[in-house]
Amino acid sequence: MHFPWCLSKCPYCDFVSYAASFDAQGYLDLVLRELTVRARGFDDRCCSTVFFGGGTPSLWSPWCFGAVLAAIREYVPTTKDLEVTVEANPTSMDAVRASELRDQGVTRISLGVQSLDAGRLRFLGRLHDPNGARRALDASLASGLRVSADLMFGLAGQTPDQAVAEVVALDDLGLLHLSCYQLTVEAGTPFGQLARRGHLPQADDALVAESFLAIDDALTGRGFAHYEISNYARPGEEARHNLGYWHGHDYLGLGCAAVGCLTEGNPARGGRYRNPLEPDKYAVAVGRLELGEELSDLEQLDATTLLRERIMLGLRLSEGIDLVASALQLGTEPWPAGRAAQVERLLRRGRLERVGARLRIPRDAWLWTDDTAASLF
Ligand code: SF4
Repeated sequence: MHFPWCLSKCPYCDFVSYAASFDAQGYLDLVLRELTVRARGFDDRCCSTVFFGGGTPSLWSPWCFGAVLAAIREYVPTTKDLEVTVEANPTSMDAVRASELRDQGVTRISLGVQSLDAGRLRFLGRLHDPNGARRALDASLASGLRVSADLMFGLAGQTPDQAVAEVVALDDLGLLHLSCYQLTVEAGTPFGQLARRGHLPQADDALVAESFLAIDDALTGRGFAHYEISNYARPGEEARHNLGYWHGHDYLGLGCAAVGCLTEGNPARGGRYRNPLEPDKYAVAVGRLELGEELSDLEQLDATTLLRERIMLGLRLSEGIDLVASALQLGTEPWPAGRAAQVERLLRRGRLERVGARLRIPRDAWLWTDDTAASLF
């Protein structure tokens, strides 16, 4: 479920988020109405994870999460150990809020720390400082929730040692999961405009690559598994929701700007929908859905396309992908013209390795993951 509001807009952000006031009850009503329409005929499916992303969902009233979860349980079969994650920012997370979320059925917090350095947080336009980040992390951990932190590395002027010091400091606080991302400068954001004019301090590519590998060394040396290109977890603490995306599971999307992808049959076919990006247009769309109209933003997916997506996402995982089993499951050809030869070429170059039935990317070649995956399309 997407919650599209934040306290302010960060200059690098191209997520759908608005620095505006919102009506908590009104938004809840819309999401519940959408759920009752979209979950029709879901008796043969099972929901194992729920993710409230944004935006800054931790700004929403805690009882709203409980109401959404109760409705999901009413309309969709769910597993007993439902993983329920809420994205939060340090400015809207303290001991009271963490325990309220826990009491509403939330099991996991993903906290947008981004950095523990005051200068880098200012550069990123974040509203919190290092102490605020630490306080929010401590409060989340003390509530007994599973806690993950997002961290950005490869910022201009940051050395690999400094990047490592930040992940080590986060591990010392007792985190069980870390997502480490490189800053991406997107056109259409204030950072994108600055970069176009040559006014945005640029990171050195070689240092960014060195930081990626240094973080990997530090965290795996401390017992974390580098289970996905940007994600580290202590054993058993992987984000089950995100693993669902990387394994190609279906997902229902609810809320303004939410994306859902549902498939069926063999050969598989499916559709990926995206709800309108503006809250007022989303409200109109929910009314149209209730009248039985299909929204226009629907992408049809066939089995060949779904397998390409599985390759792209599966190769992000350290376990890689069993391409033949995935193709069989989707009812499509694993080896269309040229793919087998391409795999052999990538194996020879060390960009891929074969482990049993799986293909995966060796650690030293993770920096080329996107290119490797694209060359197998
Ligand atoms: S807090 Fe997150 S979603 Fe909100 S503007 Fe900043 S980066 Fe975007």
